[in-house]
Amino acid sequence: AGVFVQPLQKIAAVIETYPKGIAGFRRYLELLATEPDIADAPHARPAPPLSGAVRFEGVGFGYDPARPVLRDLTLDVRPGETLALVGPSGAGKTTALALLPRFYEPAAGRITVDGIDLRDLTLDSLRRQIGIVSQDVFLFGGTLRENIAYGRLDATEAEIRASADLARLGPLIDSLPLGLDTIVGERGVTLSGGQKQRVAIARVFLRNPPILILDEATSALDTETEREIQAALDRLAEGRTTLIIAHRLATVRHADRIAVLEGGRLAEIGNHAELAARGGLYARLAAA
Ligand code: ATP
Repeated sequence: AGVFVQPLQKIAAVIETYPKGIAGFRRYLELLATEPDIADAPHARPAPPLSGAVRFEGVGFGYDPARPVLRDLTLDVRPGETLALVGPSGAGKTTALALLPRFYEPAAGRITVDGIDLRDLTLDSLRRQIGIVSQDVFLFGGTLRENIAYGRLDATEAEIRASADLARLGPLIDSLPLGLDTIVGERGVTLSGGQKQRVAIARVFLRNPPILILDEATSALDTETEREIQAALDRLAEGRTTLIIAHRLATVRHADRIAVLEGGRLAEIGNHAELAARGGLYARLAAA
């Protein structure tokens, strides 16, 4: 497995997982192989430990400059707040959140963390403070331990175990004769979708970033697994600024606030009760 760990170190601090069907994040690993990272500005400095205030200020962006995907998007997320992004398919939810770890750059406006323009920070120091859990989890051929510690190769055994327990992987690990030394992936034990997702959650617990991006699963897990994962994610979100690309209204209801995107613009923002009462797009989506 050592052979695989080395090239992965580059991205280890960057991204836990990459989703299927979500262009921005999915393409990231492909891009890594072919294109250089967005370069640090000459004046870029390492990010201080962030409290997790995130602000989009009049952000405009299009993959093709002639076809804007985000238009004048302004969002203010308080440290520790959970904000769910909802909206029709193609509204720009994923794209908006792909700009936060700077997979892409805004064409207009700016994004700040703790009041600092992202472009003033080194990419690596920014990405170290953003955790991502997405629907399709990337596991490499290696042990469960290596897969969890991916992103924090200096982690101690106790830290790895604690993160696994927080992600509710404890019973799985205890059921395996080799425990954390179990090889997973193609040449080892195949993990279920729910188990893989818990590995991704354990990775983020271990790295403990102040900002979390959750790309909610669209495909159904069984109810029991779903509950377990939701409980682990709720715990993971505690004390972190959490931005959710939401597909299910059940999750959204628990968010501190919900931002409704439509055609790359912010259509409405508020909590569930406020938006439901407003009778706008959210109320229509909720009724559908
Ligand atoms: P969904 O709920 O379906 O995931 P979304 O609100 O997350 O939708 P985005 O995935 O951000 O929407 O897509 C917004 C628009 O940008 C869509 O028109 C999409 O086709 C386009 N798009 C997304 N990713 C890319 C990409 N890597 N290259 C070109 N266009 C893209």
